[in-house]
Amino acid sequence: MNNLIRVVLAGPRGKMGTEALQLIERTEHFQFVAAVDYKLGGESIQKINPQIKDKAKIYETLEECINHESFDVLVDLTTPEIGKKHAFLALKNGIRPVIGTTGFTKEELNELKDLASSKELGCIIAPNFAIGAILMMKFSAMAAKYFKDIEIIELHHDQKLDAPSGTALKTVQMIEESREYKRQGHPNEVETETGARGADMNGMRVHSVRLPGLVAHQQVMFGGDGQLLTIRHDSMNRASFMSGVKVAVEEVMNLSELVYGLENIMD
Ligand code: NAP
Repeated sequence: MNNLIRVVLAGPRGKMGTEALQLIERTEHFQFVAAVDYKLGGESIQKINPQIKDKAKIYETLEECINHESFDVLVDLTTPEIGKKHAFLALKNGIRPVIGTTGFTKEELNELKDLASSKELGCIIAPNFAIGAILMMKFSAMAAKYFKDIEIIELHHDQKLDAPSGTALKTVQMIEESREYKRQGHPNEVETETGARGADMNGMRVHSVRLPGLVAHQQVMFGGDGQLLTIRHDSMNRASFMSGVKVAVEEVMNLSELVYGLENIMD
């Protein structure tokens, strides 16, 4: 029997938030305490989803929510800017953040790491909650030991604010641990149009595609003599992320430090 985990959700109106709201509602050991939405402060959660049975209130800001409610975990599915702000604010107030937004710099991650450790609180930042995407990154890191010629193509819907995606950045970071450095392409190659070769990330090239119709997709291509290996993952809808959100909310309760990436809590 799991202990009850009291959860606040920031961004309940969004595409991810809509799914997360249902996940929290249907998970027996999660208690939905409140939501944070800067446009619907003072309303009840039924304003967003009339099917929700809990009598939870919506607060305009996280500060206000913290002042009025007791809870264990903040799930943030807002924007990169707000996600960062909320991560710091939650930890400072003794709340464990599960952050799905991306765009954290190395410095910000280090700052959050120190804060979480000093408070002995769990904090999970997950650039990708889809279990298949975690495996795609793990398999890519394995393959990079044998193939050092790598190009990454990440594809997302055209409402995404940051590029490259957090998943691409995380993939590069995991690959770097096993890949011998190589600058991709011909040493004398020239871009006749700026950006044609994508972002140069430690010698690997990362290409960001943004189109309506896409959700979240990534393909990691490895080239070798007379052979190509492609590892690809596709999220077809936001439901694909929810099993990862559930695991993160459960696991953050057992942690006393920052974990960046779900792969670090998956065997
Ligand atoms: P979305 O539909 O645009 O949802 C974001 C929601 O946050 C919107 O309803 C937005 O409201 C709201 N919001 C903005 N500022 C806020 C604030 N201060 N307080 C409360 N709510 C606020 O985007 P999405 O597709 O659901 O994605 C949400 C976030 O999760 C994005 O950062 C995205 O990159 C990330 N994401 C993560 C994963 C993962 O696996 N980790 C997967 C998919 C997406 P308005 O639109 O009215 O401003």
